[in-house]
Amino acid sequence: MICDAGTLKTLNTAAEPFLSLPEFYHEGDLIAVLTAQPLDRALDYRAPEGGCQMGAFVEVPLGPRKVLGVVWGPGKGDYDLSKIRSVIRVLDAAPMREEMRDFLRRAADYTLTPMPAMLRLATRAPGLGDPPSMRKIYRRGTSDPERMTDARKRVLEALKDYGDLAFTLRELAEMAGVTTSVIKGLVAQGAVAEEDSPRDLPFPRLDPSLPGKTLTEDQAAGAAHLAREVVADRYGTTLLRGVTGSGKTEVYLEAVAAALAAGRQALVLLPEIALTAEFLTRVEERFGAKPAEWHSGATMTERRRIWRMVGQGQAQLVIGARSALFLPFQNLGLIVVDEEHDTSYKQEDGVLYNARDMAVLRASICGCQVVLASATPSLESWANAEAGKYQRLDLMARFGAAVLPTMRAVDMRGESLPSDRWISASLQRAVEDRLAQGEQAMLFINRRGYAPITLCRACGHQIGCDHCDARMVEHRFLKRLVCHQCGESKAMPTRCPSCDAEGRLAPVGPGVERLGEEATALFPQARIATLSSDMYGSARALKAEIKGIAEGAADIIIGTQLVAKGHNFPNLTLVGVIDADLGLQGSDLRAAERTFQLMRQVAGRAGRADKPGEALLQTYQPEHAVIRAILGGEEEAFWAAEAQARQQAGVPPFGRMAGIILSAPDAALAFDAGNLLARQDAPLRRIGAQVFGPAAAPIARVRGRHRVRLLVKAEKSAPLQEALSKWVAQLRIRGDLRLTIDIDPQSFF
Ligand code: ADP
Ligand code: ZN
Repeated sequence: MICDAGTLKTLNTAAEPFLSLPEFYHEGDLIAVLTAQPLDRALDYRAPEGGCQMGAFVEVPLGPRKVLGVVWGPGKGDYDLSKIRSVIRVLDAAPMREEMRDFLRRAADYTLTPMPAMLRLATRAPGLGDPPSMRKIYRRGTSDPERMTDARKRVLEALKDYGDLAFTLRELAEMAGVTTSVIKGLVAQGAVAEEDSPRDLPFPRLDPSLPGKTLTEDQAAGAAHLAREVVADRYGTTLLRGVTGSGKTEVYLEAVAAALAAGRQALVLLPEIALTAEFLTRVEERFGAKPAEWHSGATMTERRRIWRMVGQGQAQLVIGARSALFLPFQNLGLIVVDEEHDTSYKQEDGVLYNARDMAVLRASICGCQVVLASATPSLESWANAEAGKYQRLDLMARFGAAVLPTMRAVDMRGESLPSDRWISASLQRAVEDRLAQGEQAMLFINRRGYAPITLCRACGHQIGCDHCDARMVEHRFLKRLVCHQCGESKAMPTRCPSCDAEGRLAPVGPGVERLGEEATALFPQARIATLSSDMYGSARALKAEIKGIAEGAADIIIGTQLVAKGHNFPNLTLVGVIDADLGLQGSDLRAAERTFQLMRQVAGRAGRADKPGEALLQTYQPEHAVIRAILGGEEEAFWAAEAQARQQAGVPPFGRMAGIILSAPDAALAFDAGNLLARQDAPLRRIGAQVFGPAAAPIARVRGRHRVRLLVKAEKSAPLQEALSKWVAQLRIRGDLRLTIDIDPQSFF
C-alpha cells in the first residue's frame, strides 16, 4: 500500500460482502460506482436509461471529466440527492463478475491497498470504453485481374491456399512476397475485396486434443493427477517440483489441456515474459495455435484485444506476466505459476502484491486449480506442502539422457589472482576443455554493468548518485554511469567530481561487461556473447540473441541473473559461477534461500541434452553451510534446516512481517513520523505484534527522498492487516510525507 495525503481513509473500507444485493438497477436507481481515481470511496450516481447490471463497466462524469467505473452496489445516499448525476453510458464489455469483485476486495484487504488502485490493475487496457475499432481486411474478390502478372498470381494463390480467408494488407503482402501496391492494384480491379472488420478479433481456437509428447511414467502420473484435479472443478494448489529439464512444462501443459478440454480458461504466469519465444513455440506445437500473450511490452491494441477477449471467453489461454492475474476471466479452470520462487512475482512498485499468493487467492475464490512449478521452490511453498495445505508432485529425473551437472567448489583462497581478474586458473582450464570439445560454457555473475565502483585514485572518492545513497555503476557499453536505484545516468566523467584530478578514475570490482573483457583476453579464439538486460535495445533483440546462442552462435556466454531463467542451451555443458558468495553477504532473511535457488538454477543450465554438465562455484567460503548444501544437492535437508531456523526466529513463513517505509524530502519529517508510530504501538501490541525501528533504510535516500523503515513482526495467526490500518491511521500524513506498507516484504532495501 502506498498512501499520500488523502487516501489513508480508504483503508479497510473494502470488505463489505455484497452477497444479497440486487443484480440489476433500473433507470434512476441510486448506485455506487467505483472508479480508478484516487478517491476514498465509491461515488453515488443514478442508473442510466435502460438500467445497468451489478458489475457493469460504465462511464461516469467526474467534475469536468468522464471516467471509467464499475457498478459496485446500491448508492450510499449520503450526498445531496439533487446534485447526483447520471451514469453516461454502459460500456460494451462483460460486467465484472462477482468473483472478480470479491478477489479485488480481498486482495485490497490483504495488501492494504485502496480499492481504486485495485480497479486500476483490473482495467489496465486502454480504450475499454471505445466503440470497437475497425481495420481493413482483404479476401478474394469476384472478378479476375485484367492482366495477370507473376506478383498478382502469387497473391491470388496465397488467398486460395488459405481457403479464401481474410488477411490484413501486411499479412497478405508478406505471404505472397509482394509489395502492398500490388494488392491495392488488385482491389482497384475487383479481384481482391477490401472490407472493414472489427480489430479485436477472437483468438484462434486451441485444440487440446492434439497429441502431446509421450510422457515418461513419472511425468504421466503427474499429468494425470493434475488433470483429475482440474476436472474435479474445485480449488486446490499443487507444488510441482522437479529439477530443471525434468519436464515440468510438459506436465503442466497437460493440465492446461484438461482445462481447455473442459471448456475452461487457463492462465500461465511466467517471470520473464519478454523472454518466452521458446515457450510460446511449445504451446503452439501442443495446441495448434498461438495463445494470448500479456505483458508490459504488448502494444495497446493487443492489450485491449486480450482484455476484451478474455472477458468474452474468446481467449482460452493467456501466457502472461504477473498482472495477467487481474484479467477478467469468465471461466478460469487453472493458473500455473512457473518458476514460482522467482522474486519478480513480487511487485515492488505501486500495489505491492505477490502474484504467487494472489494466484492462490484468486483460485480459491473461483474454485480452480493452481500449479506452482519450480526446481527450487520458495520456502513458503515448500512449508505449505509440508503442512499439507498444498499437494506436492515430484519429478525425479531429468528427461532422457540428461543428468544433473556435477557441482564443485573452486576454493578461491588457494588461487592467486591479480586484483583486476576474476576467472581462476581452474575455471579457465575447465572452459578451455569445453571449447576444445566444441561445447558451450557459461560464466555467471549477478552484476550488471562494467564495474560496481568508480574510484578516484588521487583522493579516494567513490562516485555516487546525486539523488540516492548509492554508488553509480559504470556501464562501458553505454559509456555512462548509472544508478541502479533510480535509473539516473550521466556521462562518464574524465575528472574526479571531488578533487578534479584528471584521468585518475578507476573501475573497481567486476560486472558482467568487465568479465566479458577478461574472457576475451583469456580466450581470444572463442566467440563470446554477453547477456545483460540493459545491453539490448528491446526485448525482441534480446530474444533473437538468445535464440542465436541456443543454436550455437557463441562459445562462451557471459550473463547475469537473466540467463538463470529457463533458457534452453542444448550444447552448454559448463557453468562457472564467478562469485558464489555474493548473495550470502546481505542481512536479508532470505539470503540463504536466494543463493541456494540461484546457484541451483544457474547450474541447471548445464547439460540439458545428452551431454553431462558441470558447474564450478568460485567461493572464499567452501565450508559455508549454504555452499555445502548447494554442492551436496541435499535439497530436502537444506529446506528442513532453513525452515527450522526461520521457525525459531519467528519469521516468514512461520511468522508474519510487514515493512513500513516513510519517505520525505526532509529526513526529520520522516523520522518524526516513524518515532510517533513507534511510540503509539497500542494497536499492534493488542495482537501481540512488535515494532522495530524507526531506522534509516539500508538505502537511506532514493530519488532525493529520505527513507525511514519500521518492521512489524507478528505471529502467523495474528490479524495483522486490521491492526496495521488502525495503527497507521493515527498518523496524520502531511506535507510531502509518504507511507508505504509492504505486507510479506521480500526486499529490505
Ligand atoms: P522443465 O520445465 O522441468 O525445465 P521441460 O518441460 O522444459 O522441463 O523439459 C525439458 C526438455 O525436455 C524440453 O526440451 C522438453 O521438450 C523435453 N522433454 C521433457 N519431457 C519430454 C517427453 N516426455 N518427451 C519428449 N521430450 C520431453
Ligand atoms: Zn540514484
